[in-house]
Amino acid sequence: MMIKCKEASWLISASLDRPLTLAEQVRLSMHLLMCGNCKNFSQQMAQLRAIARQVGNGE
Ligand SMILES: [Zn+2]
Repeated sequence: MMIKCKEASWLISASLDRPLTLAEQVRLSMHLLMCGNCKNFSQQMAQLRAIARQVGNGE
């Protein structure tokens, strides 16, 4: 089952707030394999999250 970029970006954002379900992880990773834009977005979000965690120090 294919998801669109809009859904992929929604899942990426959601993953910052809560753990994704297995079904969501599969759908997202399938999309990221095919979509460079969303892959970049996912990596940027992961980096931002890591930085925010350091700066915020558990806020
Ligand atoms: Zn995409």
